[in-house]
Amino acid sequence: MAKSKKYFKKVNPRQNFPELEEEQLKYWQKNKTFEKSVQNRSSNKRWTFLDGPPFITGSPHYGSLLSSIPKDIFPRFWTMKGYQVRRVWGWDCHGLPAENKVENKLGLQSKRDIEEKVGVKNFISECKSYVSDVSSEWKWYIDHIARWVDYKNAYKTMDRDYMESVMWVFKSIYEKGLIYKGLRVSLYCPHCSTPISNFEVAMDTDNYKEVNETSNTYKYKLEGENSTYFLAWSTTPWNKLATPALAVNPKIKYVKVKQGSEFYILSEDRLEMLNDKPKYKVVEKMKGSDLVGLKFEPHYDYFKIEKGKKAFEIIPADFVTTDEGTGIVTIAAYGEEDLAVMKKHNIQIVLHVDEYGHLKKDVPVGGGMYYLKANKLVNQDLADRKLVYSEEEIKHTVPTCWRCGTRLIHAPQDAWYVNIESLKSRLFKNNKNVNWVPGHFKHGRFENSLEAAPDWCISRSRYWGSPVPVWECSCGQRFVPGSIAELEQKSGQKIDDLHKPEIDEVTIKCDKCGKVAHRVPEVLDSWIEAGSASFAERHFPFDKSYKLKDFFPPDFIVEYTGQIRAWFYVLHVISTALYDSNAFKNVVVTGVILGSDGRKMSKNYGNYPDPRKLIETYGGDALRLYLMGSPVMKGEDIVISEEEYRNQVKNYLLPLWNVYNFFVTYANLDGWQTSINKDIKQTVLDKWVISSFNKLIVSVTQALENYDTPVAVEALREFLVKDLSGWYIRRSRDRENKIAFYQTAFGILTEFCKLSAPLTPFISDNIYQSLTNEESVHLTDWPKAEKFDQQLIDDMKFAREIVERGHSIRKSEQIPVRQPLSKITIKTERAELSSEILELVLDELNVKKASWEKGPELDVRLDTKITPELKEEADTRKLIRDIQIERKKQNVELTDKVEVSSPWLPEDPQLIDWLKEKTGAVKLSKSKFSVKLSS
Ligand SMILES: [Zn+2]
Ligand SMILES: [Zn+2]
Repeated sequence: MAKSKKYFKKVNPRQNFPELEEEQLKYWQKNKTFEKSVQNRSSNKRWTFLDGPPFITGSPHYGSLLSSIPKDIFPRFWTMKGYQVRRVWGWDCHGLPAENKVENKLGLQSKRDIEEKVGVKNFISECKSYVSDVSSEWKWYIDHIARWVDYKNAYKTMDRDYMESVMWVFKSIYEKGLIYKGLRVSLYCPHCSTPISNFEVAMDTDNYKEVNETSNTYKYKLEGENSTYFLAWSTTPWNKLATPALAVNPKIKYVKVKQGSEFYILSEDRLEMLNDKPKYKVVEKMKGSDLVGLKFEPHYDYFKIEKGKKAFEIIPADFVTTDEGTGIVTIAAYGEEDLAVMKKHNIQIVLHVDEYGHLKKDVPVGGGMYYLKANKLVNQDLADRKLVYSEEEIKHTVPTCWRCGTRLIHAPQDAWYVNIESLKSRLFKNNKNVNWVPGHFKHGRFENSLEAAPDWCISRSRYWGSPVPVWECSCGQRFVPGSIAELEQKSGQKIDDLHKPEIDEVTIKCDKCGKVAHRVPEVLDSWIEAGSASFAERHFPFDKSYKLKDFFPPDFIVEYTGQIRAWFYVLHVISTALYDSNAFKNVVVTGVILGSDGRKMSKNYGNYPDPRKLIETYGGDALRLYLMGSPVMKGEDIVISEEEYRNQVKNYLLPLWNVYNFFVTYANLDGWQTSINKDIKQTVLDKWVISSFNKLIVSVTQALENYDTPVAVEALREFLVKDLSGWYIRRSRDRENKIAFYQTAFGILTEFCKLSAPLTPFISDNIYQSLTNEESVHLTDWPKAEKFDQQLIDDMKFAREIVERGHSIRKSEQIPVRQPLSKITIKTERAELSSEILELVLDELNVKKASWEKGPELDVRLDTKITPELKEEADTRKLIRDIQIERKKQNVELTDKVEVSSPWLPEDPQLIDWLKEKTGAVKLSKSKFSVKLSS
């Protein structure tokens, strides 16, 4: 226990909490409390958490504040439990967001402008300076939500060390045969001129837009027959410019029909596709397999067919269904399944769109035009040639670029991929070792995304990022360095910067043919960097002071739902690829904080309050209570509510402050010191509150061990408001045995500060320090629960139920509590309460005696007859209250005596004594009501 001291520091009853927090911040900084909390713990016992580095932008939004809070709570908790918890800030610097910001700043319209107008060197140095400019504003927020983290030594994903670790990650995965270069279809942004990962799009529903477009059924003439056509349905007219094959499902039944003077081939199940008029007649039935190998006349044949490649043929494909269209599908390179089936059947691959989304110059219709703009021209041209059978309008949803909003295209990319397909079974296996909070995400959203994940395109045709560390010779030989030293040795050049364009100037001599080999031009998807954070933030494996088992897999990570398919996913992929391990042990998934109108927060909608203003008004502790107690910590979305934020002050901080103020005021008044006397006799109320508190220790510890903050907040609040403030303090106001009260209340308050320290670090430390004179609550150990008396807790609960019923009878009969009543009758099946507890009930309800009856369920009756004696007692009580109000008005100190005159005074000598004792009155006289200081 604490050192003894004479008086407790006086408490300001009108404390402004943000001001208290400001003082507390200065204290922590001055005393290096955070640093001490890390250094004080042995490095042999570590608890690790992995911080998702935020992208470096001007100021944090609610989402970054939300995830920052558990990133502080759990480290504080585990620190108090005796673990050393390293906490270093990080910045995610590379990638499209930064490039886009710099493009806007420099007024660049397209990727071409970067090379042609400013040059890559200048562009990269602009990216570097952008990153250095904007990191300062975060500090204020991080401090004021009380997040303890080493901000000064923050790592950046653009640091040479970080990038070297990423290089090592790439090489390690490459050497396991899990990275390949190939032509595959992925989503592609024509404005940013780069592939985009599926999961980057899937992170946010805003990335999908609904569009109205035409869908067409086209006619493809069967070669060698005059008027027989295959009917094929499509929603991408621009793709008809390069359709070297049609596909059918060999297992589906097809028919040939005669309609007017022409014959059409389509699936038997899709006859409804045909126009109503003129009437058709089925003339022949066949299986899909019968159609395979037939030739058709192309709509356009401007492209070259390479030697050995096939074109304009019907090919088989299992993905063709009769759910929509005609059962015959046009095949072009701009689709994942299309490209696969083309490769399989050796069909000529035609790429007719350039990297900016324009049709190549040699395309006969719409050449040089943006691909979507050519749709009308193509349809017009084909209609003129009588090759369009029908046309209709359809609505569908299309993906857009998460960065620039441009509609994405599925485009074949000669790019670098991680072979997810071959990792899949291990990804599922390793997920078994992860504790997801809430648990439903484990088999739900996460495994669903594993199931659907395509191979991961990890190269970007951009500039600002870690280089793809591959040097490729024209003879096909590759060199993949896993460290700067390896590259320096091989190239004979000193490497200072791994960024473009410097890294592209580094060349090596080919091992095989001796020619000069250059680096491939791409940079890595910045998600590779985010997914390597566990290793790269420690410069692993180059910094020998870190051993893998000391930090991997980390104990804890937390981010919002969007990261299930993104950061959580890439971490899991990389750790599975590297070590066949899960990437983290426990993961908390938060929901999203929506704007006040239920939409996504947006500056354009003006639908959310300024976070800085709110923090300045209500403080960081209240924000922590608000968010950590809300369903957003259970993965659910919530709507921002200033009222709920404000309520944390009213419903938590103030009750705590009032209890503290009450204790200090009376302890000082009685000159109580913090010496603890074990022989002091505790009342049943003391014993009960101690039991109840020990039970609270168990609940909060369990909740935090389970990463469940809403349960922890609720348990603390219940105890504080209902048990401590609403019953223990309330029933202790007039008690006799003051020493036992001070002793108990002091113990409870100081231990409560420890228990709430992770959740409300400011107020907990402030109260703890003033009560104990110790350095900080955050340097103490987590409380251990002692045995508690569950029977006592249950009995007290029952007693309070009786009290509640009694009060509600008084309320409905309109008898104020100051009016004493003679009897309460309690009918129950339970055993009678002990006399000590019953005393509390009678006192609270202001009733003289109780009588018990046996019977089902609880029933409470009050004898409401008011005798003259009871009336006199009530009037005395009212007078006492009036005098006390008057004393307060005149700011009379508690120790001061007063002289009272009143038109009415009690006659019963016992009541007179009671009046004097309660009000500090030394003289009473009968006249106009007045209270004055005794001379
Ligand atoms: Zn874009
Ligand atoms: Zn070579």
